[in-house]
Amino acid sequence: MSERYDHFINGRHTAPVRGGYFPSSNPATLEVLYEAARGTKEDVDAAVEAAGQAFDNPLWRDLSATRRGHLLRRLGDLVVEHAEELARMETRDNGKLLREMRAQLATLPEYLYYYAGLADKVQGSQIPTSNIQVLNYTQREPLGVVGAITPWNSPLTLTTSKLAPALAAGNTLVIKPSEYTSRTVLRLAELATEAGFPDGVVNVVTGYGAEAGAPLVEHPKLAKISFTGSTATGSAIASSAAARFIGCTLELGGKSPNIVFEDANVDNAAMGVVAGIFAAAGQTCIAGSRVFAHRSVYDELLEKVADRARSIVVGDPMLEATELGPLAFDAQQQKVNSYVELGVSEGATVLTGGRRPDVALPGYFYAPTVLTGVTNDMRVTREEIFGPVAAVMPFDTEEEVLALANDTQYGLAAGVWTQNLSRAHRMARRLDAGTIWVNTYRAMSPMSPRQGFKDSGVGIEHGLESMHEYTRLKSVWINTDEGPVADPFIMRS
Ligand code: NAD
Repeated sequence: MSERYDHFINGRHTAPVRGGYFPSSNPATLEVLYEAARGTKEDVDAAVEAAGQAFDNPLWRDLSATRRGHLLRRLGDLVVEHAEELARMETRDNGKLLREMRAQLATLPEYLYYYAGLADKVQGSQIPTSNIQVLNYTQREPLGVVGAITPWNSPLTLTTSKLAPALAAGNTLVIKPSEYTSRTVLRLAELATEAGFPDGVVNVVTGYGAEAGAPLVEHPKLAKISFTGSTATGSAIASSAAARFIGCTLELGGKSPNIVFEDANVDNAAMGVVAGIFAAAGQTCIAGSRVFAHRSVYDELLEKVADRARSIVVGDPMLEATELGPLAFDAQQQKVNSYVELGVSEGATVLTGGRRPDVALPGYFYAPTVLTGVTNDMRVTREEIFGPVAAVMPFDTEEEVLALANDTQYGLAAGVWTQNLSRAHRMARRLDAGTIWVNTYRAMSPMSPRQGFKDSGVGIEHGLESMHEYTRLKSVWINTDEGPVADPFIMRS
């Protein structure tokens, strides 16, 4: 009998009202790891109610911003203490390499410490209006109950990116993690209680998107929704939020270009291309899935990328030597495979990969794949595959590659490989994406704001700017003149 996990509501493990559970399995071994509560509207109602009461409770409402920072810092310390446990849990849940998870867990506390430090530095200002008798100042206030919905590819990091600024600003939270990765987010909520956050400040309802996610988004008492996931789900969430005039922060999909110019260090660029698309088996929103190489270095780059792709060690994500783990679940594997087949039917050539590799474990493995003979108007170059599939295309001029790179519905990130400083700045200015990397790929920090352009998102995550996503601005006017208030119908010129 596998373990069973309930929702985490009002500081307590809470069984689902309708009593259902669903299985969650290890994508490398296919063993069922545990069952998690299958949340429904009733559970969401209870969680939002608890979060609403916690928001109004003086224990939280009247806590100083500095004290909120202390709690976040303590949660950061607990994450440090439990890093190995959390890393192993997440690797079992989604197949990410254990060594990648260890690296993520080493930086995760920085998110909590960063926002702990910011908690008491978000302030309003005094506005020098033309009426000197009236004092006008602004203050930033928390919003209320924030709903956070997260995907399976990096549940802890992506949840913490929302939780840390939301709590620093004084909100309360109801989190709905992906149905594929419930466990680590539940554990994070337990640690938040251990850190001293009052009951009801952090709640987790597990379950499926349609059954638990949708009722959360539609809940009338929700003040804001912060979502990371696919563009299609994000669009539905944005419509629902717009109908009730609540704000939403959306971090969505991508189809990022990674551009190698003729003046690049090709060895470095090849490593950047490999890291861009094969890290985490390509299951990252920022994957550099469209590779553009200048025709003069195209063959050399392709050979280097394909050689490294062939030598990538695919296998058990728990092992130190493994470089690429499984895809997270069966539908993911089918989706990746069917995109490769579609590419071939559209005229692409599979230079390497394009199949399940020989791995002793029964999981959802897929070989690092390089497609050539593709053009920027094929479905494999326009749609997000979310797997280890690079489409490599040649180009001749800077203007041409700029147009190709920007010719996409997405605008999440872009990579540029060049040794020409002027070109680097020109590309940074003209590429239509929220994050630009030059001679590197994947650099990231809780301090650096991230915004998806076009269909890749709305709003900002990380950095000081993210605090503003979780506050509202109030303007206060105070008459300091104790004399009689003028008759409103007598106009002075
Ligand atoms: P998804 O949209 O299928 O699911 C994301 C979350 O939304 C899950 O918790 C799911 O249960 C929930 N959900 C699904 N339908 C819902 C509905 N109707 N109402 C409310 N909630 C609903 O995405 P996924 O497959 O879990 O994640 C992969 C996607 O996430 C990719 O497109 C990837 O690019 C994107 N992503 C973006 C970022 C970023 O920062 N931009 C980061 C990671 C992943």
